[in-house]
Amino acid sequence: MSCLFCKIVERSIPADIVYENDHALAFRDIRPVAPTHALVIPKVHLACIHDATPEQTPLLGELFAAARAVAEKLGLGEKGYRLVVNNGDDGGQTVHHLHVHVLGGRGLSWPPG
Ligand code: AMP
Ligand code: ZN
Repeated sequence: MSCLFCKIVERSIPADIVYENDHALAFRDIRPVAPTHALVIPKVHLACIHDATPEQTPLLGELFAAARAVAEKLGLGEKGYRLVVNNGDDGGQTVHHLHVHVLGGRGLSWPPG
C-alpha cells in the first residue's frame, strides 16, 4: 500500500499520534497552520468523503466523534475549534486518504481562501 496515511496506521512511518480507537487514528499535522493542528483519519483506506459508500456512513460518524474527542484531549473544547475536510482538487485535498483537520488555539478567520 503506497498511501502515506495507511503507512501511519501501519506504523511503518512515524507520526505524533494523539488519539486512537477501533475506527480512527489522530496525529499532529507535520505542517501546522494553527497552534493546535491534528488530523483524524479512518484506519481503513478511504480516499475522500465523496467515495464513501452508504455502508460507510457510520464510519463517517465515528470520524467526527473521534475529532470531538481529539479536540477535547488537546484542550480545545472550551474555546472552540474548526473541523475541516478538504475533498478533491478544488477542495485543496493533497493526501488522498480521508482526514478531518482539527484546528484551534487561535481565532480562525472566515471565509477560507
Ligand atoms: P489536505 O491538504 O487536506 O489533503 O491535508 C493534508 C495534510 O497532511 C497537510 O496539512 C499536510 O501538512 C499533512 N501531512 C502530510 N504528510 C504528513 C505526515 N507525514 N505527517 C503528518 N501530517 C502530514
Ligand atoms: Zn490510505
